[in-house]
Amino acid sequence: MKKYIQKIREKYSVFLILILLVTSFSFGYFIKKSPVTEKAVEHETHLSDAHKGHSAMKHARHITLSDTAQKLASIQVMPVERKFVTAEISMFGKIDYDETKLAYITARVPGRLDRLYVDYTGISVRKGDHLVYLYSPELLTAQEELIQALKRVRTKNNDRKYVQKDSFSILEAVREKLRLWGLTESQIKQIEKKNKPSDHITIYAPISGTVIHKNAMEGMYVNTGTQIYTIADLNRVWVKLEAYESDITWIRYGQKVEIRTETYPGERFEGRISFIDPILNQKTRTVAVRVNVENRDGRLKPGMFVRGIVYSRMSAGGKVVEPDLAGKWISPMHPEIIKDRPGKCDICGMPLVQAEMLGYAVAEPKDAPIVIPATVPLITGKRAVVYVRIPDNSTMFEGREVVLGPRAGNYYIVLKGLHEGELVVVNGNFKIDSAMQIEAKPSMMNPEGGGMGAVHKH
Ligand SMILES: [Zn+2]
Repeated sequence: MKKYIQKIREKYSVFLILILLVTSFSFGYFIKKSPVTEKAVEHETHLSDAHKGHSAMKHARHITLSDTAQKLASIQVMPVERKFVTAEISMFGKIDYDETKLAYITARVPGRLDRLYVDYTGISVRKGDHLVYLYSPELLTAQEELIQALKRVRTKNNDRKYVQKDSFSILEAVREKLRLWGLTESQIKQIEKKNKPSDHITIYAPISGTVIHKNAMEGMYVNTGTQIYTIADLNRVWVKLEAYESDITWIRYGQKVEIRTETYPGERFEGRISFIDPILNQKTRTVAVRVNVENRDGRLKPGMFVRGIVYSRMSAGGKVVEPDLAGKWISPMHPEIIKDRPGKCDICGMPLVQAEMLGYAVAEPKDAPIVIPATVPLITGKRAVVYVRIPDNSTMFEGREVVLGPRAGNYYIVLKGLHEGELVVVNGNFKIDSAMQIEAKPSMMNPEGGGMGAVHKH
């Protein structure tokens, strides 16, 4: 038995060695002949060539300035930061009426204006104040109909139910006609009580506000629909502003706006953007922006010149960061309606939308954009060049083209070309640039290098 096992072992190990030999041989063959490997090696060579070229090109944008030269040129560097910066956007405009809070006093029945109680514009009226005393023969007829209908209903000796029902519906129809002609419920009751028609009707103010137009004169004959007065509710006003084309990237629907007036220097009013015109004014290169502002004390008067200021912060992704709107739901029609969860607008019933849908971002430190002071980039037309101090080499600087985003106060947002912590030249960059030109290297003024300003040195 033991002998038998040993025999198998011997046979098995011979077989194993054979397998090992065959596999290692073929493996080596494949390694040697593999086209993939050859290509990879070839690629490697190309890469190193390209790298050489790249660093050579990069080198052309480098300049060495001794410590003394740096002192003479007052070179100062500072690290590139990632932080939220605030843009102060200024807009100019005027106070206007809130068009959604206008009421028109119209004649609902033909007649003659025997008395206009408000005889000039600018007068403020309260809801229910009498405005017009109108003479109307048609009204007289309708009132007589009312009295007749009432008489029929009140007649007790009529015991037939359906006749009774008929009289009631006639009475209700006449009442409705008078309501449509603008008579109040109490006016109708008064006529029924007195049992006597009047050929005049008083028209009352439907809202509190200021009479901004008087379209009729006493003694004038009017038809149904003739406008007599326009009343504006000035408890809330519209501020109509113009935003410059370059500023609209910072502005969003629902954003808070600080309103300053010449009339009340030092005072701040506040509102929210309720409309941004989707069309740019070709003549002024501005965009119309409307702001809703509460005006309970009536101090803001239509026609006043104002300045609107938006303090806007932007995330790295180009969204506006407004902490009081982060994660909130807002009415797409009434920006003052802001809620914690989805629902409907209290004013118009429209479904609320998420603030994020309107171009807002939830602010997190990691979303802060890369920024540099506005004195760092040298800008000509579309190009911007910054000078960066090479790490671990305090005498070498690199000129680098960057892509700038919008400017925010004393900062530029950088979209491309710089990393957080890199040291950029904040003072003396013009001097470095002219040194580059003297050495015929690519500079802001001369991106290709060489050419003008090139002095050959040996
Ligand atoms: Zn609404």
